[in-house]
Amino acid sequence: MNEAVRDARAGGTVSDPPGAVAEDGLEVAESLRPTDAAALADQVGDAAAAGRALLVHGAGTRFETGNPALRADVRLDTRGLSGIDELDADEGVVRAWAGTPLAELREKAVASGHELPFDPPGEGTLGGTLASAAAGLRFANVRDAVLGLDVVLGSGEATRSGGRVVKNVTGYDLAKLHVGAFGSLGVITAAWIRLRPAPEAVRVFEGPAPDARASLAAARLATARAAAIHDGRLIVELAGDAPSVEADRERLPVREETAAERVDALRDVQGGRAVLRVRVTGVASGLPAAAACLEGAGGVTLSLPAQGLLYAAFDDSDPKALGAALEAAGRAAGLAGGELRIERAPLAVRRAHDVFGDPGPLRGIHRALKQRFDPAGILNPGRFAGRL
Ligand SMILES: Cc1cc2nc3c(=O)[nH]c(=O)nc-3n(C[C@H](O)[C@H](O)[C@H](O)COP(=O)(O)OP(=O)(O)OC[C@H]3O[C@@H](n4cnc5c(N)ncnc54)[C@H](O)[C@@H]3O)c2cc1C
Repeated sequence: MNEAVRDARAGGTVSDPPGAVAEDGLEVAESLRPTDAAALADQVGDAAAAGRALLVHGAGTRFETGNPALRADVRLDTRGLSGIDELDADEGVVRAWAGTPLAELREKAVASGHELPFDPPGEGTLGGTLASAAAGLRFANVRDAVLGLDVVLGSGEATRSGGRVVKNVTGYDLAKLHVGAFGSLGVITAAWIRLRPAPEAVRVFEGPAPDARASLAAARLATARAAAIHDGRLIVELAGDAPSVEADRERLPVREETAAERVDALRDVQGGRAVLRVRVTGVASGLPAAAACLEGAGGVTLSLPAQGLLYAAFDDSDPKALGAALEAAGRAAGLAGGELRIERAPLAVRRAHDVFGDPGPLRGIHRALKQRFDPAGILNPGRFAGRL
């Protein structure tokens, strides 16, 4: 395979050997792996003309988040579009192709004295991270890092919104629309990303979790880059210039210093292979009661007070236990005053429940956007909110 994959700018497509792959309970007859944006646009255009449904893939580490596809003819693998096009260390910006693994981007960013403002581990791709708005412990707002996107719409039309400099968008900021759209409105082919300066000091402290107010205050300290409650303990990562980190250390309600890996290990609750994983959004003051509700149903929770996010992982695949966990998740969302998303679940659960929740009064606008961006309805059909 490797020798067949040429540099994205050199042009071409690699068609994986025949043999169906199973996706969302469907057999997908063909896989395509274009190695440049023009070839990808042609393939999407051809698929639209033929009415063939495409399942858009990065590295597939997050493909489980989504409603089951209603139909699927081709798996469109974007990893052939890989590589960094430009990294400007002075400006702290990088342009890369969508199939580039985060590990490669992270390595180049660090080598230039910056950090990549995305949490997921290495194998995930840039495109998959943006399309799923992959929020993490350290970097909650993926959209903030996006300066510009190249996207191929469902019609095969290639579009560009934004670019290398901040505030370079005339009219609607369409790039932000594709972040978190899970590939339902277009296929991201490349992105301009704003990097962050690497912090001078990074220190992690933990201890028994204080009350919600004290935990939130800790999570909102100026240098608090990550703050999580897990297993009854508050873990806070401070990052920034050394004097500021030291000043914030004094203000922390937890004192035990620990290694940075302690924060990385918490990612497994967010991205691990649990049978069922749910995400509840809400106000910080409501998260403790919501967490207790989920733990009461057997969930392992991870609460992020500053982001108003609560994750719970369940490992019992018994249908009764799954039903009880989902019921508890609904109650937890009510207690937190927010919404529930099913991040990972068996196919039967995803068939029975819209994993994103009901779009409610926005359903009509969502449908109209889908109709405009993907008129033939070929991009990940049925996988997004409202089964669009
Ligand atoms: C240990 C671990 C920790 C993790 N931590 C986190 C975390 O903190 N936060 C988090 O959110 N995720 C996390 N993940 C999940 C996952 O790694 C990331 O979400 C990753 O960034 C997804 O990238 P991917 O290329 O694998 O996407 P895929 O799984 O291939 O795709 C994800 C979605 O994006 C769509 N998509 C993919 N590429 C494109 C494209 N080019 N254009 C348009 N749509 C596209 C797909 O159709 C799909 O809907 C974690 C995973 C692991 C294993």
